[in-house]
Amino acid sequence: MTRQCEICGTQVNAKFNICKDCKNSEILPQRLKIKGSFYEKDILRKEVFLDIPERIAKLFNQGDMGMNKLRAFFYMVRNAYDVLNLDYDISTLDKDQRYEKVKPRLWALQRTVEDRTRRGITPGSFKEFINYYLEIALKSKEELYGFIELFRSVIAYSK
Ligand SMILES: [Zn+2]
Repeated sequence: MTRQCEICGTQVNAKFNICKDCKNSEILPQRLKIKGSFYEKDILRKEVFLDIPERIAKLFNQGDMGMNKLRAFFYMVRNAYDVLNLDYDISTLDKDQRYEKVKPRLWALQRTVEDRTRRGITPGSFKEFINYYLEIALKSKEELYGFIELFRSVIAYSK
């Protein structure tokens, strides 16, 4: 007898609710990856708000990624986005140039996650979440906004 892992959907022994990978919270399963863009025809995808963020929240919970840590990282992403609107020095730059100024903050975030993961403070699944979704977010201001919305949704489903 098998059933579906309630986080990633893979088949598991019916004795368990979740698979070994999700239990260990070391990776971000394919099922939890929005592919390519947060948008479909310029509209944020439904999965940015529903289903996927709920699964991601469960996965992080398995890895002891509590609300405080999650919020701390969320603010780093949101603050990077705010630079686009608040920084007086860059107000004279055009849209693309301004976005280039945001990128180092996102790279610094990746560096921080790398460090926290190595020290066992955050789970591998969170590192994969940041690295996978920042790759999309680094494409444009709009995609970064999509990532912020996804991150907000994950927090909404977290304990
Ligand atoms: Zn699973």
